[in-house]
Amino acid sequence: MSERPLVESYHDRTAPQRRIAPTVTFWDETLRDGEQTPGVYFSPEEKLRIAEKLSDIGVGVIDAGIPVVSPKEAASVRLLAGAGLRAKILASARTVPGDVEAVVDSGASHLAVFIAASEVHLRYKLQMSQEEVLASAVRSVRRGKEAGLHVAFVTEDTVRAPFDFVERLYKAAREAGADRLVISDTVGIMTPLTFRWFLEEFQRRVQPTDWSVHCHNDFGLATANTLAALEAGVNCPHVCVNGLGERAGNAALEEVALCLEALYGVNTGIRTESLHKLSRLVEELSGIPVAANKALVGYNAFSHEAGIHTHGILRHTLTYEPLQPERVGAQRQLILGKHTGKAALVEKLKERGVQLEEPELAELLRQIKQRTEAGGKEPSRHLLAEYRELFSHPGLSDTEFWKLVSALPVAGAP
Ligand code: MN
Repeated sequence: MSERPLVESYHDRTAPQRRIAPTVTFWDETLRDGEQTPGVYFSPEEKLRIAEKLSDIGVGVIDAGIPVVSPKEAASVRLLAGAGLRAKILASARTVPGDVEAVVDSGASHLAVFIAASEVHLRYKLQMSQEEVLASAVRSVRRGKEAGLHVAFVTEDTVRAPFDFVERLYKAAREAGADRLVISDTVGIMTPLTFRWFLEEFQRRVQPTDWSVHCHNDFGLATANTLAALEAGVNCPHVCVNGLGERAGNAALEEVALCLEALYGVNTGIRTESLHKLSRLVEELSGIPVAANKALVGYNAFSHEAGIHTHGILRHTLTYEPLQPERVGAQRQLILGKHTGKAALVEKLKERGVQLEEPELAELLRQIKQRTEAGGKEPSRHLLAEYRELFSHPGLSDTEFWKLVSALPVAGAP
């Protein structure tokens, strides 16, 4: 027999180019950015249920929300802060005094203060000069430190801001006492290579020791960019369960964790075998269905239908599975359908100790294929119609909105 390994792994070849931090701390954004997914709302109790699971699974920091948003949001943060979880409870604030005070009052041990850095945000959204942004950042970081909090300084849209300003801003925030520096690709326009360049430049200029990235998925690159950041030495990636978040979402917790664990052999401290369960819990409480083809936690992530694939899997799972489904707490499924082959049938029949020979086997296969091709799309058509209706108009319906408006004392007049 050959001494050759079953599969070659080339990840070792690139190891010298990776600067993965000795300890990677996951900062989960499911309850803040994830809740900003259109139409998503978590009650305080739901936030607690998710936070408990996140903490158990090994996430280090949990962004519980922005207390100034509403009394209920503040109550959520207080509930989580008082729950005695192993994970640190963080709350977010604009660099606005009222926002920061709301975090101080919430009992959270960690504060993230954020302000935009790019020119388009400064000129059109904030209508502030760079000097004003800098001053408000410094003031907020100082206030957080005075209150005894761990302070992360975050800029929105960091990667579309002038680098000289980025450098000045982060250095000022650090001098004011910021413990962690967070770089955001707020609209998801980075690519792994460009992001790596940006972060190396940032490191050269600012020399951060504890730093984070916040990557969005507008071009489907959130996980790839987060991985590039980890390769550049960033030690605290922002993630969301199921990749939830504004628009196309954030880097997915399960994807980032498994890239590190399964591909690079990094011990993340994340209990990956609980990720599937966590994914389903967040799916249920957020109301955002996990895509069937979602990496690692999607319904099809470990399903095999094609005869060639199923046959391979039954001989050795490495043929068509890069990792065992048990690794994320999922289960392998062999699907009976148009592309099914005999190997899958034989395996399926074993479940009840049935053994079929030709020509019965061929006949059974013919019937299965015929059944599948004959249609059966009705159930998914119904589901899709409802799904489209729901997700074309998430949040408050137009009818409800105008009803509220007409009930107002003044606007109510026709
Ligand atoms: Mn975001």
